[in-house]
Amino acid sequence: MLRNLIAKRCLSAVSARAYATKPVDGFIGAIGNTPLIRLNRLSQETGTEIYAKAEFMNPGGSVKDRAALYVVKDAEERGLVQPGGTVVEGTAGNTGIGLAHVCRAKGYQCVIYMPNTQSQEKIDLLRMLGATVYPVPAVAFDNPENYNHQARRHAERLSNAVWTDQFDNRANRRAHIETTGPEIWQQMGGRIDGFTCSTGTGGTLAGIARFLKEQDRNVRIFLADPPGSVLYSYIQSHGKLAERSGGSITEGIGQGLVTYYLQPDTELVVDALHFSVEKTFAMLYRLLDEEGIYVGASSALNVVAAVEMAQKLGTGSRVVTILCDGAYRYQSRLFSRKWLEEKSLYGAIPAHLQKYVVL
Ligand code: PMP
Repeated sequence: MLRNLIAKRCLSAVSARAYATKPVDGFIGAIGNTPLIRLNRLSQETGTEIYAKAEFMNPGGSVKDRAALYVVKDAEERGLVQPGGTVVEGTAGNTGIGLAHVCRAKGYQCVIYMPNTQSQEKIDLLRMLGATVYPVPAVAFDNPENYNHQARRHAERLSNAVWTDQFDNRANRRAHIETTGPEIWQQMGGRIDGFTCSTGTGGTLAGIARFLKEQDRNVRIFLADPPGSVLYSYIQSHGKLAERSGGSITEGIGQGLVTYYLQPDTELVVDALHFSVEKTFAMLYRLLDEEGIYVGASSALNVVAAVEMAQKLGTGSRVVTILCDGAYRYQSRLFSRKWLEEKSLYGAIPAHLQKYVVL
């Protein structure tokens, strides 16, 4: 009887996490197939169904593992890089970390240019993974010294090297059309009213949107934007580009340019939501306190957006978003009283949650 009970328990655990049933092929085989988490408290509080894809559970720790794998595979398939060659990229960090893992697993060198505004944890991790890292001044895209242009020039100077160009590389979006989108559709049993997330390159949003729209034209897609980004006003004004006012302090997202993936001809994104950094930080701490979920600020912003989208769509609506990465790679900032005070964000954290500010 006990044996039966144990067998039953094991079976249900197996069916809940189908990806764990057999060994995967190396680091690369472990990318994707992440769980979809129902955010219980927020769903209950809003009378809606809010789900978040746990992309922090990818082996390199973020949603960008998927894009990293796809851009490297694409470069290989197109003969742009041969064994032992070098992969060069400009990145806020997570694509770089994904690439550094994939490069080690496949035997490539990895060179990363990133804005020097990013957290020390990401730079350290990249170096621990064997990447050569160049933190460079955070200047706008139209400046030739922008990290992306520096990455391109670096690759051009080397032989057997590819600049993977995540901002304008179809393989980035394809990762989400072929993997993240179908996983969400299957995990939701084909019943989904809305999807929302913030954007860096826009590959995640555009790829998932494209796949979901192909399954059901009625799925609504909202872009979630932080202060310091131009995309909210771009979508709201149907394609007019506003002046950028300052940068985004939410690492990995918040663009001063409209990436290729978000050009209006995709006609996928019907609306945009815009939030204060204060709201995002309050949610970051709520997720920790109420759901036990330890994620970075872009994930918290995504959840704020999912809640607002679900409320707009009405009671019972089923909305999905992305938990892009864990808080580990920013903890010296997100949980530091000094940093929060410097950014005037300490007061944004509800008093009963300030106990989590332990650094
Ligand atoms: N969140 C974080 C923490 C990121 O690093 C990124 C990518 N820079 C994103 C969200 C957005 O992903 P995408 O590039 O697919 O828009």
